[in-house]
Amino acid sequence: MQLLDGKALSDLIKSQIKEKVSQRVIDGKKQPHLAAILVGNDGGSETYVGSKIRSCEEIGYKSTLLRFEDTITEAELLDQIKKVNANSDIDGLIVQLPLPKHISVEKVIESTDPEKDVDGFHPVNIGRMVQGLPCFLPATPNGIMKILEHYKIDTAGKECVVIGRSDIVGTPVSILMSRNTNPGNATVTLCHSKTKNLKEHVLNADIIISATGKPNSVTADMVKDGAVVIDVGTTRVPDASKKNGFRLSGDVDFVNVSPKCSYITPVPGGVGPMTIASLMLNTLQAASNKD
Ligand code: NAP
Repeated sequence: MQLLDGKALSDLIKSQIKEKVSQRVIDGKKQPHLAAILVGNDGGSETYVGSKIRSCEEIGYKSTLLRFEDTITEAELLDQIKKVNANSDIDGLIVQLPLPKHISVEKVIESTDPEKDVDGFHPVNIGRMVQGLPCFLPATPNGIMKILEHYKIDTAGKECVVIGRSDIVGTPVSILMSRNTNPGNATVTLCHSKTKNLKEHVLNADIIISATGKPNSVTADMVKDGAVVIDVGTTRVPDASKKNGFRLSGDVDFVNVSPKCSYITPVPGGVGPMTIASLMLNTLQAASNKD
């Protein structure tokens, strides 16, 4: 079994970006600039936005964190997004999800300028992804593809089972895995909570990508010998032995599944850091598009 070390790969990608940013500055080109909108005080969101801003600092991007109370109205938030869209110094915008219930995620995503949508959530980018046109690929699915590419995992003609069909992970990664690209060219089955005989589908998989947020739901009896397992799940579970009182758990029962795998991502240190690396790549692309 080999660990797919997303942390190491992410560090490598970020160091390559850092060199490109230094060269851009030497060449008199603009420094990439990422803006992040954070609404409310959700602990998980604070952590995720914090690591994105830190990554910007590490690699030499400008960053702007726009924080709002969870009492902000939908109209006020949309107005703030309009201002970011109009600010020519800002190349990329992310709005950290989840948002308070009174704000429509759809409206927020659709109001983001597709050319600044470095999360790759806007329907224009999703549509272009489906058609294989240049676009901002959604960060987590793209991070998964980069792991498969880096470790030279053969995906062509393989049976790939994706568990979870969210707009941000399961559905786009199922599309990327089925495209005529490398990595890609897999025969993909997309499972969800209404899937019957989940175990039967998963047992048939050469590549399993789980994105349900259900800790330890992928168990050893569901995984065939030699499978490649990508665990997207990052659920906070209480853990009194930790300083902050919780630990991050993947969807996969790592202890019992990993001995059966050819490759597996750890949680943490697998897909998570790659999501940030992809976001940074998209932001560099957004800045370069203006050169
Ligand atoms: P989501 O929007 O909650 O979607 C979960 C999906 O899992 C849904 O499609 C749901 O099916 C399916 N599902 C739930 N229980 C299931 C079950 N027992 N059997 C089969 N399918 C089941 O989640 P998400 O936003 O995609 O996130 C999923 C996990 O990935 C979470 O732990 C999240 O924190 C993590 N995540 C990690 C990163 C990262 O960078 N590492 C990025 C994004 C998300 P239905 O559609 O039928 O409800």
